[in-house]
Amino acid sequence: MDISVVVPLYNEAESLPELAAWIERVMDENGFSYEVLFINDGSTDDSWSVIQGLHDANPRMKGVSFRRNYGKSPALNTGFDRAQGNVVITMDADLQDSPDEIPELYRMITQEDYDLVSGWKKKRYDPLSKTIPTKLFNATARRVSGIHNLHDFNCGLKAYRKEVIKHIEVYGDMHRYVPYLAKIAGFTRIGEKEVKHRARKYGTTKFGLDRFVNGYLDLLTLWFQAKFGVKPMHFFGLLGSLMFLLGFIAVIVVGALKLYNMYSGNSYTLVTNSPYFYLSLTLMLLGTQLFLTGFLGELIIRHSNDRNHYEIGDEITADDTPALPQRQVTGIENTLHQTVTAQQ
Ligand code: UDP
Ligand code: MG
Repeated sequence: MDISVVVPLYNEAESLPELAAWIERVMDENGFSYEVLFINDGSTDDSWSVIQGLHDANPRMKGVSFRRNYGKSPALNTGFDRAQGNVVITMDADLQDSPDEIPELYRMITQEDYDLVSGWKKKRYDPLSKTIPTKLFNATARRVSGIHNLHDFNCGLKAYRKEVIKHIEVYGDMHRYVPYLAKIAGFTRIGEKEVKHRARKYGTTKFGLDRFVNGYLDLLTLWFQAKFGVKPMHFFGLLGSLMFLLGFIAVIVVGALKLYNMYSGNSYTLVTNSPYFYLSLTLMLLGTQLFLTGFLGELIIRHSNDRNHYEIGDEITADDTPALPQRQVTGIENTLHQTVTAQQ
């Protein structure tokens, strides 16, 4: 199969028939073999029955429905688990992204050898309250992730080589940073394509301004994980040891000064009268805590099921035996309750 289109959606019933027809038209015009995976993220409108209708009319329209609303990231992740196409394209359901971009995205992945191509809504049709913070958000994301050529991290329209999506896990609200997740997983050929953006036709946006606060926190998490995720001791251990050492030296100095004053007949007081005593005590306590945090982190990693923390991209063996099977990322399957799959 050439293409899987993954569409996460939450209360988008009005947009769905139009979107499905448009995707179908583009696919047929270009002769692609395809599937469309609608991931219904606990919609409370009749999105799911619309999807069932779409499937009845065209079995290539498939769907998964969550029992409640989990968010865009779990929806994407579920689509990624199920996608079978060689190229996987994600797209918002609200008709803001245009299916007309699909053929060119497909070409960039298959012929220009990109791992991932992200859409760039150069001209946006969104309220100002969103476009300005978005600029700031993207500048920060570029710096932190080191992916300097992306203008629009959070664009819903993206294309991936199949291998990429089978090796990343989009959890929490991490859909904003899928390119960064891909980079952390070792897929570094990341490109960008300018795409047409349109104003939302039906319904309303599902994200408020809190997206920016959460976005920053998630970016911090990812950065920290990428840097120290498999070696927490290098962060906590270093910081903890330094603090402990500083406190220890200070307490020795405070004690030695008192002893010196005692024996040389100067006036002296209890060490607990010195503010430096309390400072060094605090430093030593915090230092020990940090050190232990690092140590606990190392223990958790050492004993987690998933303890390789690296993946093998390719392997050459002497006798032509196939390379070892790779670890598969699993989603949240046990929370799904209804699945429509193709009849053939
Ligand atoms: N979405 C989702 N689950 C959610 C929120 C949003 O699946 O909890 C979907 C939504 O239906 C749409 C896409 O994610 O298809 C992008 O959402 P939206 O258009 O509201 O975001 P915006 O365009 O304002 O960034
Ligand atoms: Mg939208």
